[in-house]
Amino acid sequence: MQHKHTPINPKFPHFMHGGDYNPDQWIRTPEIWDEDMRLMKLSHCNTMSVGIFSWVALEPEEGRFEFGWLDEVMDKLARNGLFAILATPSGARPAWLSAKYPEVLRVDQNGIRNLHGKRHNHCFTSPVYREKTQIINRQLALRYKDHPSFLLWHISNEFGGECHCELCQEAFREWLKRKYHNDLDKLNNAWWTGFWSHTYTDWQQIESPTRRGEDLVHGHNLDWKRFVTDQTVDFFLNEVKPLREITPDIPITTNFMGTYPGLNYWKLAPHCDVISWDSYPTWHGERRDCELGSDIAFIHDINRCLKNGKPFMLMESTPSMTNWQPVAKLKRPGMHLLSSLQAVAHGSDTVQYFQWRKSRGSSEKFHGAVVDHAGHENTRVFKDVTEVGKVLEKLDPVLGTAVDSEVAIIFDWENRWAIEDAHGPRREKKDYQLTCQSHYGAFWKMGVAVDVIDMDCDFSKYKLLVAPMLYMVRPGVAERIERFVEAGGTFVATYWSGIVDENDLCFLGGFPGPLRQVLGIWSEEIDALYDKDVNYAVFNENNTLGMKSAYEAKELCDLVYAEKAEVLAVYRDDFYAGRPALTLNILGNGKAYYVAFRNNDIFLDDFYGKLSKDLNLKKAIETELPQAVTAQVRTDGRNAYLFLMNFSSEKKEISLGNSSYTDMLTGETICDKLSLTGYGIKILRS
Ligand SMILES: [Zn+2]
Repeated sequence: MQHKHTPINPKFPHFMHGGDYNPDQWIRTPEIWDEDMRLMKLSHCNTMSVGIFSWVALEPEEGRFEFGWLDEVMDKLARNGLFAILATPSGARPAWLSAKYPEVLRVDQNGIRNLHGKRHNHCFTSPVYREKTQIINRQLALRYKDHPSFLLWHISNEFGGECHCELCQEAFREWLKRKYHNDLDKLNNAWWTGFWSHTYTDWQQIESPTRRGEDLVHGHNLDWKRFVTDQTVDFFLNEVKPLREITPDIPITTNFMGTYPGLNYWKLAPHCDVISWDSYPTWHGERRDCELGSDIAFIHDINRCLKNGKPFMLMESTPSMTNWQPVAKLKRPGMHLLSSLQAVAHGSDTVQYFQWRKSRGSSEKFHGAVVDHAGHENTRVFKDVTEVGKVLEKLDPVLGTAVDSEVAIIFDWENRWAIEDAHGPRREKKDYQLTCQSHYGAFWKMGVAVDVIDMDCDFSKYKLLVAPMLYMVRPGVAERIERFVEAGGTFVATYWSGIVDENDLCFLGGFPGPLRQVLGIWSEEIDALYDKDVNYAVFNENNTLGMKSAYEAKELCDLVYAEKAEVLAVYRDDFYAGRPALTLNILGNGKAYYVAFRNNDIFLDDFYGKLSKDLNLKKAIETELPQAVTAQVRTDGRNAYLFLMNFSSEKKEISLGNSSYTDMLTGETICDKLSLTGYGIKILRS
């Protein structure tokens, strides 16, 4: 395991701190640019993302380029010791481009072409759009390749959406022909089109899924989603081609959107040099901050795992409120530092914002920014941002360090697509992501580090592999899980696993299909409960886990037979009273648990608490953490940097046991115990 990674760009071996900077919105008042430079330094910001939506400012008419303003901004940044992340502008197009080449505009699933406007409104297949993107990207690369402030490429912005134009339909059919080796019968079989007489007799009959036509053939829907990801990756590769050629030493990223369902980020990640993502939690909202803190940690961990543990970038976050969520609540005092450093605790090497300065007009004018409409530094938010900047300057030793996890949770995009498409056992509240996040939450509360991976990742290095609702099992996965368990690993699976293959076709011969051997059970039926219904899982006396109580079973109860597995708990009520609710199968040197019922946090906390002791899982700190407090460690293999974080507004006391630490921000030695203020954070070196 690599514990120390090189900085994102070795030219700047420090935490990046800054934000999306749109000087082109202030082109009529360039004196603002000098004020920006003063304020950037004052706020301890060092890196700005420029040019994200600057296409029309850079190419006001086809083939006529205006780089003067960007030259000036890049030079000002350099003169002030500041750095730039340079974006390619394909996220939004000039009106002249749409007017002259309407094919670049996206077509919706009803076949209606969008009019010009908004952003992210383009076809990923259009040869014209691809050509125009490459031209502007080449110009940018040639012009700024040796610029002293230039650190990183930011490709487009938040890739997403899909296009159903004729070019995309044809590309989809070509993609299918490649996948099914030009054999329509193979496709018909994989998609099970004999159902409702949906068999295709010519490739030309195949169209993208649409509510007005075909959207009930699950294999079809799944392949379309795969195609959309592949086509987006292909568009991305077209964008980066000139950049790789002209600026081979400038790393490349594109900003992801957490668990955005439209793209399988695992397919895009290998083509990025560093992963970055935009994080916008709704703090102080309807859910408790500690629940949200755990869910956001889960997403940070995905981003770290997308490149096998390499530090990622928090590319966007808000310094205070957002403008697009239902309620734009302000971050309470302390939350800005806490949420920024939470990203660092989980492996981010940057803290960046959308946006540097509030725009004066249009839809983002009320989105949080470092510089408010007031225009000066005497604001609460500016002070919060400055505090983050000052803290990051003290964390150089943490840069490039790793997070060591002994636990992995599988959260798989294709599995999620298949689950969401399935009709039953509940149409609502299938809640795949939420389920993965509740399993994750049990570890978060204990301060046990977790990797969040997809099912194709290598999991042989972990002690514990958790795969909630592994409904789809792609070829080879069950065999790898078996080898993992035989070699001494512990595997946890739940209800509704091993149901379909990679084409969304049900496994025949008994569920959980290929997982039956490792789990030692057969699932005959699954009962879906109404919201008001409750059953109970009751643990047998002297069960090997040492669990005693009864736990609620809600929403989904799998009715299984223990074939080889030992039964640890049984259902209490209903016609399946006495049937297994939790089983353990010993295989080789390892163990495989099957949790047949959907459960609440109390069960998961107890269950994973037991497993954690059983497996002697490493905690960030060997102490009982108070409720709403969590801990994470980054390490270079020799030094450990402990982040203690309080996701509540109340003060919390933490016992440190016999260890003593150095507070990285104050230099103080801390032993015995410490207290965290509401939304407080401490970073300690051991
Ligand atoms: Zn298209």
